[in-house]
Amino acid sequence: MTVERTSIDTLVVGAGQAGIAMSEHLSKLGVPHLVLERDRIAERWRTGRWDSLVANGPAWHDRFPGMEFDDLDPDAFASKDRVADYFEAYAKKFNAPIRTGVEVTKAVRNAGRSGFTIETTKGVIEANRVVVTTGPFQRPVIPPIAPKDEKLTQIHSAEYRNPGQLPEGGVLVVGAGSSGVQIADELQRAGKKVYLSVGAHDRPPRAYRNRDFCWWLGVLGEWDAEVMRPGREHVTIAVSGARGGYTVDFRRLAAQGITLVGLTKSFNDGVVRFEADLADNLARGDENYLALLNAADAYVARNGLDLPEEPEARIALPDPECVTHPLPELDLAGAGVTSIVWATGYAVDYDWLHVNAFDSNGKPKHQRGVSTEPGVYFLGLPWLSRRGSAFIWGVWHDAKHIADHIVTQRKYLSYRDASERQAEDGREIYEAKFLPSTEVH
Ligand SMILES: Cc1cc2nc3c(=O)[nH]c(=O)nc-3n(C[C@H](O)[C@H](O)[C@H](O)COP(=O)(O)OP(=O)(O)OC[C@H]3O[C@@H](n4cnc5c(N)ncnc54)[C@H](O)[C@@H]3O)c2cc1C
Repeated sequence: MTVERTSIDTLVVGAGQAGIAMSEHLSKLGVPHLVLERDRIAERWRTGRWDSLVANGPAWHDRFPGMEFDDLDPDAFASKDRVADYFEAYAKKFNAPIRTGVEVTKAVRNAGRSGFTIETTKGVIEANRVVVTTGPFQRPVIPPIAPKDEKLTQIHSAEYRNPGQLPEGGVLVVGAGSSGVQIADELQRAGKKVYLSVGAHDRPPRAYRNRDFCWWLGVLGEWDAEVMRPGREHVTIAVSGARGGYTVDFRRLAAQGITLVGLTKSFNDGVVRFEADLADNLARGDENYLALLNAADAYVARNGLDLPEEPEARIALPDPECVTHPLPELDLAGAGVTSIVWATGYAVDYDWLHVNAFDSNGKPKHQRGVSTEPGVYFLGLPWLSRRGSAFIWGVWHDAKHIADHIVTQRKYLSYRDASERQAEDGREIYEAKFLPSTEVH
């Protein structure tokens, strides 16, 4: 087999929303580049999530500035396939140079010369720069709590597709961020007995005073927050666009039939133990919810907005039995639980990237995506530059910053001093005079 060897100024790895945004900005600025994608465009939206998933933000918000979801009501929540179609159409719109079905297997900095050598499943590429857009959520993480046991089905939320995939019997869903909450709700509505393990979380109202929470986070400057408040690293956010969008209210989920339990602590002989933190976790989630209502009310008052008051948003349901008398443990077989869905998040995977851009924990070291290895960039990571960085609209703005940085670097590197300019001019005159005029590649 002959190995293809090509060179390009900038190589972008991954054609999800981040890779497409990067390509758009590089195209606008005239930077020669290529995007490699191992599967299809926006594959994670297409096949990497459960069947009924819709975007967490409304169509007017969860999109790039350059194109609307023209077939959707702006307040609707696009299905995951509609989001994938959107990105495919978006890439087509500006003719993004994307090659699909090509996996990058290794990238190394060249020794003694500039640039990188990148090995792929379709050949070798030389590039001056590499932009890593392989996603914020790559490797599903299951905490090492429950050992493998043939009688118990255990899957990560990344593998969950629909209730029919799970065996007969009850389910323990571990993790109450947007994924865990939506999956637990769907399983319970499908007739399953569901236990939901709830840790620290934020739960903004879906909408308040006729505005979606995406709007509130925007006008209150929360999407633009540059640093995560200390101690918030393990706080997940519970929102849902399912069934037209609703505020995640754990007490309502309990009233619906879901048994809430605290953080999952350990597993022994088929018995799962939980922390005694359920009431505290709910109380902190309530605080976060009320803080947004208060900030919204203050914003309305300060700006004299005519948005209808909504006092009923402050009425809380009473604590259900599972909160006042929380289960310290659950004997899975005794309770008829036959599966666990771990909605416990993801890690990144940079095994293929051999460059000096990682800290001792393997986390990218960068400033707004510009890494400590000159020529290597990261895009699409949570808090890359701000709270919105891993989300659809936020990644587009970060991509702009990185593209500008690349253009500036190219400008520096194209600088020639007087003697170099003179030599180049001389060469051009000689070539024009003595060489036949042919196109130079
Ligand atoms: C369940 C879930 C729901 C979400 N909902 C929303 C939402 O509603 N709104 C929102 O704004 N955000 C949402 N997000 C967050 C974020 O928008 C998505 O995670 C989004 O997919 C990230 O886009 P990305 O382009 O950064 O990465 P990805 O979509 O993960 O794309 C990365 C691409 O890189 C490719 N790739 C990886 N490694 C290689 C390699 N070595 N060689 C070649 N190609 C490679 C992959 O195949 C993939 O296509 C959600 C996330 C999850 C997990």
